[in-house]
Amino acid sequence: MPRTTQTLISDRRRYLGPNVSTFYDEPVHVVRGEDVWLWDADGRKYLDCYNNVPHVGHCNPRVVEAICRQASTLNTHTRYLHDGILDYVARLTGTMDDSLDSAILTCTGSEANDIALRMAEAMTGKRGIIATDATYHGNTALVSQLSTSNPPKTGFGLGQYFRFVEAPDSYRRPDPDGTLFAEAVAEQIARHEAEGTGFAALLICPYFLNEGFPDHPDGWLRPVADVVRRAGGLLICDEVQSGFGRTGTHLWAHEKMGVVPDILTLGKPMGNGHPVGGVVTRSEILQRFREGYRYFNTFGGNPVSCAAAMAVLDELDDRDLVAQAAIVGNHARARLRALGERHAVIGDVRGSGLVFGAEFVLDRDSREPAVAYTDRVVNALRQEGFLLSKLGRHRNTLKIRPPMPFTTAHADSLIDALDDVLSRLPVTP
Ligand code: PMP
Repeated sequence: MPRTTQTLISDRRRYLGPNVSTFYDEPVHVVRGEDVWLWDADGRKYLDCYNNVPHVGHCNPRVVEAICRQASTLNTHTRYLHDGILDYVARLTGTMDDSLDSAILTCTGSEANDIALRMAEAMTGKRGIIATDATYHGNTALVSQLSTSNPPKTGFGLGQYFRFVEAPDSYRRPDPDGTLFAEAVAEQIARHEAEGTGFAALLICPYFLNEGFPDHPDGWLRPVADVVRRAGGLLICDEVQSGFGRTGTHLWAHEKMGVVPDILTLGKPMGNGHPVGGVVTRSEILQRFREGYRYFNTFGGNPVSCAAAMAVLDELDDRDLVAQAAIVGNHARARLRALGERHAVIGDVRGSGLVFGAEFVLDRDSREPAVAYTDRVVNALRQEGFLLSKLGRHRNTLKIRPPMPFTTAHADSLIDALDDVLSRLPVTP
């Protein structure tokens, strides 16, 4: 007997424990996906405006075929010789600056960031890490310490190595050339040094996606990269969300922001849902890390993961999905801005490519965040068959981040539905 929604919810609590959250007041029980669409157990169809993991579309046939073909031929770990991981890393690093020439493949973005921090320690001999105060970089004992909104109660005392800077916010605290951010990082570097921890690395998403994707001109990270390097630290870019062409203008958001990281971490969209992540870096950093750690990851970089990841790159290339993301994103943002002329609750519209959204405010002068209202809008859209979420420091920014095959027609239907919802729902705190 298939479970009812109520039984699914109670069984999750029973078998998976408390604190395992779901989206929406009325969680969606999805049973099937295809391209940008999801279907629930009652056969209802939803436009997926949120999932970046099925990067080239839910159940993308080319990725499915690659997984099936490799799974029916061979799947094992990386202690045997195999072409798959080498072909993939060569292709992946071939899309990046020449200095980023080698990689470790993992299963998750958390592992990738954990390794990146240990690489920074191995390279600098120091442990002080700096991140923004509104981000998320994963769930290991080390990187979970980087969440300030949901700080872990445990963590082996590793929290002492982390210092935070205020997340950039182009709407409320403009910093058009990135100098304020660079100064804030310099201040925390000085504190790390003064306390004896020393400064090892700045870890950031170059597009600050979890922080609410502030609007910055291309090249915005150059000043902070200079500060980091002058202090002898490493720049780690977490492109778990921003990578693989999400921003439309570049394959990698760090290119858009004008920097070459020392270490780049990848995950989520890399295998279209198959668990694969990675750390890409310079060979000297990889070598230093390997001298200090005997790192082995049983599942990381297995032949099936590499086949899935390769098929994702093939799809992005053959269907020109990055260029399409730029066109669709520009169209969607223009329409959202036009909506802002009729709905005063829209305080700001931001984004690039297929990561964008609108920030909701109770009053455009005071910019007071319309937090509860944003929740109501997200839930109302879910009821209308459009799945998205919200994020940002104030949790009042719609997060629209669909699979890359999302078209202007999909964007139009979403924005029409949003228009209806905003017209219908009175703006109250
Ligand atoms: N970095 C960023 C920027 C993320 O958004 C996430 C996941 N939301 C992670 C790292 C962690 O990735 P994973 O869940 O695959 O461990």
